[in-house]
Amino acid sequence: MSTLANITLPETQKVAIVASLGAPVQIKDHPVTAVDKLLPGQCLLKMVCTGVCHTDLHAAMGDWPVKPITPLIGGHEGVGIIVAIGANTTNSPVKLGDRVGVKWIANSCYNCEQCRKGYEQNCDNVKLSGYTVDGTFSQYLVSWVHSVTPIPENIDSESAASILCAGLTVYRALKYSETTPGDWVVIPGAGGGLGHLAVQYAKYMGRRVIAIDGGEEKHKLCMELGADRWIDFTKCHDIVGEIKKLTDGYGAHAAIVTTASSSGYTQAIDYLRDNGRLMAVGLPAKATLDASIFFTVFKSITIHGSYVGNRQDAMEAVSIAASGAVKCRYQLKKLVDIEKVYEDMAKGKIAGRIVLSIDQ
Ligand SMILES: [Zn+2]
Ligand SMILES: [Zn+2]
Repeated sequence: MSTLANITLPETQKVAIVASLGAPVQIKDHPVTAVDKLLPGQCLLKMVCTGVCHTDLHAAMGDWPVKPITPLIGGHEGVGIIVAIGANTTNSPVKLGDRVGVKWIANSCYNCEQCRKGYEQNCDNVKLSGYTVDGTFSQYLVSWVHSVTPIPENIDSESAASILCAGLTVYRALKYSETTPGDWVVIPGAGGGLGHLAVQYAKYMGRRVIAIDGGEEKHKLCMELGADRWIDFTKCHDIVGEIKKLTDGYGAHAAIVTTASSSGYTQAIDYLRDNGRLMAVGLPAKATLDASIFFTVFKSITIHGSYVGNRQDAMEAVSIAASGAVKCRYQLKKLVDIEKVYEDMAKGKIAGRIVLSIDQ
């Protein structure tokens, strides 16, 4: 084993923890994993900051079909410094002192069929941060050297945090949308947490963006981010007709759908052109997909469920953000503010992303 020089690791740390599903989140003392307890391939991170995602709230409430562990330390968009690496770790792509990101996919086996095909997020033995293993709402966190995402120097930790989940998710959806430069991509909810990143990645990739959202503030933001066209859903009564009009009557090449409602999907089938791609990226607890089979077939539409991304997708998403082409808009708070953040999130009062700094 090895430990970063000049660092004394404490025995306890502060974490944000949920005792049982549905219980309030609390800041509590929690043991720090001793360095000699790290397994080969594991590393210990001293956390700098972490994003808070809707997924964390779903986890704390336990409202998804697959249940998380309890007591639960949530969080899966964290940045930290490697302060120790487990004994007998071989071929580590990262070293002590490196700044790295922890994403939703905490670790995969890299040996099963899905892993071999590059679908590490669908690994049979996947470990999920803040869901099936301890997450980033902590001062110290055990992670895996082969799974962390190296963070380049030219991006600060707070800006990188939400790229590890929201950025990665929309970047991969665009990457697999089978669109080419100049193609039209519709982004419903373009002014939101996922949407505002999707607009920027799409523009970076040379796509033309039709941004859909509501209100003047969102309109201004979307245009600032480079959207080519804007549709205000609070004013437009025929979104399908409007999209057709903006695309010379053919419809859009792809849609990045984050919505929790089935109507978002039904509508996309109507406004996509032949051979269009509906990229589904939201993870609502209950909604079902209600699409016309006739038109899905007749128009050769592809409905593609795109679930976060693998290590390569994460590195690409972070590297594009580090180039300055994609900037996450976030509010910075502290780990101790988490209870209030969850309350506001449950009431739908949070616009954009939240990043918590983790005081050491
Ligand atoms: Zn997330
Ligand atoms: Zn696997």
